[in-house]
Amino acid sequence: MVKKCEGLAVGIDLGTTYSCVAVWQEQHYRVEIIHNDQGNKITPSCVAFTEDQRLIGDAAKNQAAFNPQNTVFDAKRLIGRKFSDQVVQDDIMLWPFKVTAGVNDKPMITVKYKDQEKYMCAEEVSSMVLTKMREIAESYLESPVKNAVVTVPAYFNDSQRKATIDAGAIAGLNVMRVVNEPTAAAVAYGLDKRTDCAEERNIFVFDLGGGTFDVSLLTIKNNNFRVIATAGNTHLGGEDFDNRMVNYFVQEFKKKNKLDISGNPKALRRLRTACERAKRSLSFLVVSTIEIDSLFEGIDFCSPINRAKFEEINMDLFDECMKTVESCLTDANMDKSNVDDVVLVGGSSRIPKVQQLLQDFFNGKELCKNINPDEAVAYGAAVQAALLSEDVKNVPKLVLQDVTPLSLGRKVVGDIMAVVIPRNTSIPVKKTGQFCTGVDNQTRSLIEVYEGERTRASDNNLLGSFYLSGHTAAPRGHPVDVCFAIDENGILTVSATNNASGNSNQITITNYKERLSSEEIKKLIKEAENYHIEDKKFLRKAKAVNALDEYIYKMKISLQKEDVNMKLSSEEIGNIESAITVATNLLSVNHQQVEADVLEDHLKGLESRMEQIIVKTI
Ligand code: AMP
Repeated sequence: MVKKCEGLAVGIDLGTTYSCVAVWQEQHYRVEIIHNDQGNKITPSCVAFTEDQRLIGDAAKNQAAFNPQNTVFDAKRLIGRKFSDQVVQDDIMLWPFKVTAGVNDKPMITVKYKDQEKYMCAEEVSSMVLTKMREIAESYLESPVKNAVVTVPAYFNDSQRKATIDAGAIAGLNVMRVVNEPTAAAVAYGLDKRTDCAEERNIFVFDLGGGTFDVSLLTIKNNNFRVIATAGNTHLGGEDFDNRMVNYFVQEFKKKNKLDISGNPKALRRLRTACERAKRSLSFLVVSTIEIDSLFEGIDFCSPINRAKFEEINMDLFDECMKTVESCLTDANMDKSNVDDVVLVGGSSRIPKVQQLLQDFFNGKELCKNINPDEAVAYGAAVQAALLSEDVKNVPKLVLQDVTPLSLGRKVVGDIMAVVIPRNTSIPVKKTGQFCTGVDNQTRSLIEVYEGERTRASDNNLLGSFYLSGHTAAPRGHPVDVCFAIDENGILTVSATNNASGNSNQITITNYKERLSSEEIKKLIKEAENYHIEDKKFLRKAKAVNALDEYIYKMKISLQKEDVNMKLSSEEIGNIESAITVATNLLSVNHQQVEADVLEDHLKGLESRMEQIIVKTI
């Protein structure tokens, strides 16, 4: 029986470039995608730091060109990875913000905030984006939101999933479930087409987003959504296409001007923004032009790119997508002709070449473009959140059955990967593998748990290890049972039992290497609270500055009116004018140092003087 949570629950699509939050509206029996404060349904997964404030979402993205080193994006590409990982190294070369190796090779982002260096891990940055999404939901729902279903790429591994849950905890959210993005999108599609799903349908979800690529093959029958196979690449998406364009234009600039802009973060950030815009327009136009004033050393840059060139510089990446599609079908043991619907999800699925390759692969089959590729994932997550919420009764009773994306096993003699749970096994699942001791009279066994598809264990990803001790003296070949259990979130627990002695030991592979410890999470939660207090303080101050400024203006206008001027004594006018001067000085000279309550007091002072004017003049 699934444990349900009390209180409001939302679905959050935590994307590499954009995030989206949605809620199930019981009274209307539908999902509502929630607008942010700018009126947008998607919010940039971007966080920025300035001399006096922290910005998240649109506000952060809008100032990126002026503050590139302190504007952090793409945190999802770092989450659960090591600094030395080649893909991290490749990304760092193109990011304007600084990333260094922290303890246990954990990548740490460095920014300047309030004139001090701050080091943050990817979980912390993602938690800030999640906080923003929570606040967007809270302001729409006018109520605190504590619970969320957060989506992750289907191909996220164990550490990436756990790191995402940690990010939720730092944001003060109870992550009820992590759901795979393509599965969530299939829910959106399936609910939309429910009448057609009375018969079993095979749905292929192609999800190409900003930084990750996933495909999943599901069967949908009535309310049952069963994933058969999934495949993907957690490091392939729109950002990679942008990177290729950035590299292309860096070379073009070099050719034209004999200057290399690649070491200049500000120029790179502006070029990247222009490239992303040009890429989007190439989905509708055959040619687009990059135009940036004074890009580098005062030189304006104007250069065209046509769709064919864009496709040429990205063709190997598009081909990789198609290979993944094929391998998913092979894993599922399904012929492509048996796929009923091919559903497009993720912003990058709008690229015409990608659509054409996919359509060709499926022998000209019409692709389903009728769900919103930016919103489908949050939509499905919101339905799942409602299903897990104690308070929501009126929701479609869907059953989602997902699979584990990577094989899990342990290392045995000869560095061999002994698989206990093969990839694409339905979850939750529990399987036991029996292993034998390798030497006579062995007193303990080292259990090393890996995930991945390589035959040599050390070529796979080591998730954690532990000892099972207390073996009784026995010749080699003494049996040890190792049980692997994966829960609904795709999170693994491993336990080992010595059959003869009955001794057992188990780990949920939690605090291994790059994962945050519970102390670190507590510390980050405290820091998040401090950020929240500082943000609120900043907002209060900004409001006080604006209110005072507006009031000064209003009073000056009133004083200029002839009838007002006539009815006040020169002493009264003098007093009002000096109060205006004091308030104006406060704003213009040193308001950085002035606290919000000082400004608010001055505003109150001006308001009472204004009342005097009103009384005298009516
Ligand atoms: P998502 O992670 O699903 O929000 O996808 C975001 C990615 O989709 C970003 O890299 C965008 O640049 C990309 N994108 C959005 N719209 C388009 C479009 N019309 N053509 C190409 N890429 C797009």
